[in-house]
Amino acid sequence: MSYARVLCAGLVGVAGHVVEVEADLSNGLPTLVLTGLPDTALNEARDRVRAAVVNSGRDWPNRRITVNLLPAALPKRGSGFDLAVAAAVLAGAGELPPARLDGVALLGELGLDGTVRPVRGVLPMVAAAARAGVTRVIVPLANAREATVVPGVVVRAVDTLHRLVEFAQGNGALLDPPAVPVTPEPPGPDLSDLAGQETGRYALEIAAAGGHHLALFGPPGAGKTMLAERLPSILPELDDDASLEVTALQSIAGVLPPDGRLVRRPPFQAPHHSSTLASLVGGGSGLVRPGALSLAHRGVLFLDEVPEMSRVTLQALRQPLESGRVVLSRASGTTEYPARAQLVVAANPCPCASPAGDHACHCGAAVRRRYLGRLSGPLLDRIDMRVNLLPVRAAQLVVESEPAESSALVAARVTRARTAAAARWADGGWRVNAEVPGPVLRRPPWRLPARDTAVLHDALDSGSLSARGYDRCLRLSWTIADLDGRDRPGTGDVCEAYQLRMGEGGARVRK
Ligand SMILES: [Zn+2]
Repeated sequence: MSYARVLCAGLVGVAGHVVEVEADLSNGLPTLVLTGLPDTALNEARDRVRAAVVNSGRDWPNRRITVNLLPAALPKRGSGFDLAVAAAVLAGAGELPPARLDGVALLGELGLDGTVRPVRGVLPMVAAAARAGVTRVIVPLANAREATVVPGVVVRAVDTLHRLVEFAQGNGALLDPPAVPVTPEPPGPDLSDLAGQETGRYALEIAAAGGHHLALFGPPGAGKTMLAERLPSILPELDDDASLEVTALQSIAGVLPPDGRLVRRPPFQAPHHSSTLASLVGGGSGLVRPGALSLAHRGVLFLDEVPEMSRVTLQALRQPLESGRVVLSRASGTTEYPARAQLVVAANPCPCASPAGDHACHCGAAVRRRYLGRLSGPLLDRIDMRVNLLPVRAAQLVVESEPAESSALVAARVTRARTAAAARWADGGWRVNAEVPGPVLRRPPWRLPARDTAVLHDALDSGSLSARGYDRCLRLSWTIADLDGRDRPGTGDVCEAYQLRMGEGGARVRK
């Protein structure tokens, strides 16, 4: 037999695809030709596969070998095809009986010594194989746990090419995936740790309930980071689809925790203001790595000290935040990753970043204006709420020391508000108020009476509110009403939304 076919899988963006690897061995100058749009990493597979086969104690066929990857039109990236290529070549040479690998998808990179190494993106690839009707997969041992997350697929693991060949020959067994631990996910940071900050907490609750973007201004020590990193704790858990999507992105980025279970908590990403563009939006050769923007998909992207970020970086964030996806162009084609994240930005009021009320700061009003001006314009206009935080010392004086509410309590209110919003917008398919298009809110039956929106009209006419800002205020008003359990926003809700938009919001006494 000089022809063999083995199944594998590849990725385009987060979407997996079944790939067929066929090998044909003919008489001629001994060589290995790879066809089917291979990228550089795949070309390197040629040498890796040969060395791995020889170092596994097998003979490398001294013939002309053509390996073809199908479908040809699909870009193939990364090193996950090695194991399938080696199996196809050995099967074509008659060294490996193909019967036991029939209908089985093989994934894995080969080391020169014949070990099978983990690859990124195993979860979405196995999920794709399952959708295509493949019920058995063989993956690297280190990826076996994440592969078992996919229902309806029998997962077996290999550590060496030798083990795979022995199995195919009926001389040995494959490995079982390590058992998935049943320990619960450790709890994240909780709102009960946070003293004072009533305004910040209230804005965070609105942000969670309506999916709104939030800007936090305040001196160092005011608790901006503490607030932001507690936003996931009051967001609903990810549903099955979102969970699979988020877990798949972490798998492709190679940051999935070793226990390889589905991620249920909305992710939180806080890239440093000096982060490279590639680490923010994604990049790298071969299988393009998703950046922080995509790893925050369905969760929270926190940008601290945002005026320190370069203009180029802020520009690069704008489009993905608008469209909810990142498109990365490479010579080998484009890769698209989802990036629908809730944005929280934070800034100090001035460049010297000394605690407020401190006499050490000599930044004048003009300096402060220029500093915050760096994030103004298109980015700030897309942020629904601005909150000025007092330093904790002063805040604690204002608020008497009542025990702080826990995240669970706030999350229950958020869930109620979200349920009301989702039911209202069910026809349009929007889940949270932030997703509802402006025109829908400005037209009947959802248009609010003119007397209720007068404050917004005045602000629009005087130029202190942009058209985009107007719509954002309407969305905020609905969220405030949802949180208070009212069917429609009234004048008070609209005024409150306007204040939150303009950074004039205050703490609200909750009964
Ligand atoms: Zn200063």
